Amino acid sequence: MITFQDVSKTYGLGGHAALSEVSLSVKAGEVFGVIGASGAGKSTLIRLINGLETPTGGKVIVDGDDVAALGVEGLRALRRRVGMIFQHFNLLSGKTVAQNVAFPLKLAGRPATEVKARAAELLARVGLTAHADKYPAQLSGGQKQRVGIARALATNPKVLLCDEATSALDPETTEQILDLISGLNRELGLTIVLITHEMDVVRRVCDRVAVLDAGRVVEEGPVEDVFLHPESAIARRFVREADGEVTAAAGVAGRVVRLTFRGEATYKPVLGEVARTTGVDYSILGGRIHRLRETPYGQLTLALAGGDVAAAIAQFQASGVRVDELSGETAR
Ligand code: ADP
Repeated sequence: MITFQDVSKTYGLGGHAALSEVSLSVKAGEVFGVIGASGAGKSTLIRLINGLETPTGGKVIVDGDDVAALGVEGLRALRRRVGMIFQHFNLLSGKTVAQNVAFPLKLAGRPATEVKARAAELLARVGLTAHADKYPAQLSGGQKQRVGIARALATNPKVLLCDEATSALDPETTEQILDLISGLNRELGLTIVLITHEMDVVRRVCDRVAVLDAGRVVEEGPVEDVFLHPESAIARRFVREADGEVTAAAGVAGRVVRLTFRGEATYKPVLGEVARTTGVDYSILGGRIHRLRETPYGQLTLALAGGDVAAAIAQFQASGVRVDELSGETAR
């Protein structure tokens, strides 16, 4: 479905290469992940697929077309076959949910009755029928991404590009959106390319993965192989992170703490209480539950942000939970 043949991309004159001699192919009907750190070239790679960027060397072939050789009309037609969703959703804030989803169909000049019916069908598919007349600002992040997905599907594409589509979402919502994306792949046979900096996303949904480092593919293969036997240093690092090791340097917003619950505290609904009374939001970065002889204990690594973080830490301690600050060191 998609082939990169020795693709290079350099921005501007004499700039360094964002991508260097990348060759890879994505089969029809598979979920292909591209993982890499910030600046590795992931966005550049995905934007070459729908012609938002043009290569400075090599060729990108999508569904039989050499993307760089397409004219304006050809590109338009290609973009109807290749939908895209974004980290920050890119919804039109002045339009309702239904209008956002209908937008690509209106652009394509489809008749009004067809547009309306198709928008309703798409909203049902992503579970947003009840929210059709709301504006994006009235939706949660997960709901906004569902709108993004419905809009991307409007023109019945063969390929869906996902640009860090769950990076702005909390872990639970991430799981729901990843389930939705997997379902689209299975039920519609949609080919999916997703870029991410999280191995967990790759582990949950991808068939194959390419690891990108400084513009080069350093490793590529079925997810099981890359996960169980990572060869490159960078792939090993991503796998370690997905296995629960969290570093404060991983670009996580907020104060990173490890909570240790023992004995009675293990069973108290402490997290919810603290979040409600202090207004602190938490992202769960890692966690495990074990027993020390007869004593159950749990450890959770959280990023705390917003609200009164100091009060939250004090309240955890008052509830018998041990709090270790991890900012600046490696958490295990
Ligand atoms: P990633 O998505 O993995 O963070 P990008 O593809 O955004 O990586 O960026 C790869 C490299 O190309 C970076 O060094 C970035 O600064 C550079 N780059 C990306 N877009 C542009 C642009 N429009 N102009 C100049 N340099 C760019």
